[in-house]
Amino acid sequence: MITLKEAMKLNKEELKEIVSDIKTRVQKSDINAYISLDEGFEGVPVAIKDNIQVKGWNVTCGSKILQGYVAPYDATVIVKMKEAGLAPFGRTNMDEFAMGSSTETSYYGKTLNPKDKSRVPGGSSGGSAAAVAAKEAIAALGSDTGGSIRQPAAFCGIVGMKPTYGRVSRYGLAAYGSSLDQIGPMTQNVEDAAILYDIISGYDPKDSTSARIENPGVSKSLNPDRKFKIGIVPSYIKDASSEVQKAYDKAISILQKEGHTIKEVSLMDARYDIASYYITAMAEASTNLSRYDGVRYGFRAESENLKQMYKKTRSEGFGEEVKRRILLGTFVLSSGYYDAYYIKAQKLRNLIKSEYEKVFSKVDLILSPVAPTVAFEFGSKKTPLEMYLSDVYTIGVNLSGLPAISLPVDEHQGLPVGLQFIAGAFEEQKLFDAALGLERALDSQN
Ligand code: GLN
Repeated sequence: MITLKEAMKLNKEELKEIVSDIKTRVQKSDINAYISLDEGFEGVPVAIKDNIQVKGWNVTCGSKILQGYVAPYDATVIVKMKEAGLAPFGRTNMDEFAMGSSTETSYYGKTLNPKDKSRVPGGSSGGSAAAVAAKEAIAALGSDTGGSIRQPAAFCGIVGMKPTYGRVSRYGLAAYGSSLDQIGPMTQNVEDAAILYDIISGYDPKDSTSARIENPGVSKSLNPDRKFKIGIVPSYIKDASSEVQKAYDKAISILQKEGHTIKEVSLMDARYDIASYYITAMAEASTNLSRYDGVRYGFRAESENLKQMYKKTRSEGFGEEVKRRILLGTFVLSSGYYDAYYIKAQKLRNLIKSEYEKVFSKVDLILSPVAPTVAFEFGSKKTPLEMYLSDVYTIGVNLSGLPAISLPVDEHQGLPVGLQFIAGAFEEQKLFDAALGLERALDSQN
């Protein structure tokens, strides 16, 4: 598949051909990466996770409750893409309201991992990752609240990047955990990720959490030869599978050979990240999802009176995982439990953030696994908690508002193993430079 960088040099006719090739591939495909192949704008086609507003499209968030809803405006990232000559093409499948790590909870059916169809593509941006990996998209947008860009990228063998919180406008992204959500690029290689990141980032007055810090443009200054002090976290690795440990060791030895300095650092036990994240994310989700009441958006259940309508609409419109989170989120915010759970989770969040700050006073970047295992089989996580635990390496980044990039480093029986670099806030240039350096070193080995 042509890269984003190459595609941006094509003329209208050539792009039309690419779009028609993509359509043919998608129609022949059985991986269910797309919920729909909506188009309608000219430009370089980029697949869009179905929780980002594109004017005139049926944005579903992978949920029944948004059936029939038509987005009345473009998200800021879509406006920016169009200005740069890119065109939203197709809505990619996702876990319902971005809650999940496997794309198994979509109302529109699961997405298969193109590398092994008995396995999940990761989630929640599983459709975007699978589309890029299966050559059904040049590039895609995803959203990352607790790893939903990086983990599916790792499971499908592509590049996925989560920007610093505030770097990319959330205006027009269906809110899940508002203090955690960021939109980011999912691409075939590091340079494309930098290009797409530059296009979608920047201050936006329509998002009150948007940072007034300019992005000087990382893609133009990419330097794969820069040398960094890279932190590794030995205590993190012992819980990862042998495939992931092997990839980690491989990356460390390459980075050393390339002239980077590797330094052992310590972070708090990552199980605390899970506790803090799931309380915070569920609390925010419970308030964010209160807007889906059958009055304002999409699906409305048949009923005799208003109260029954609310109840039936939400009972029938939301899936099981979303309901579980609304209930738990409401619980941790309720009086009497607020201090015991929500406040504690926020205190913990501050501690986690300050641990990262300490580490970044000593090193430029952290190298970390993305997930404890390679892509797992459908149905293999038997309880919600087992699924939540698989997010152990990604959510600290969101709790701390940091940028991170996941890239494929190794393969185990045909299944990709991805690792991530994490940087300090607004240090995206370091992230892309190091990732590009590692990508080149890996390429030259193969
Ligand atoms: N798996 C995590 C969750 O279910 C993260 C999801 C995401 O990043 N959107 O909350």
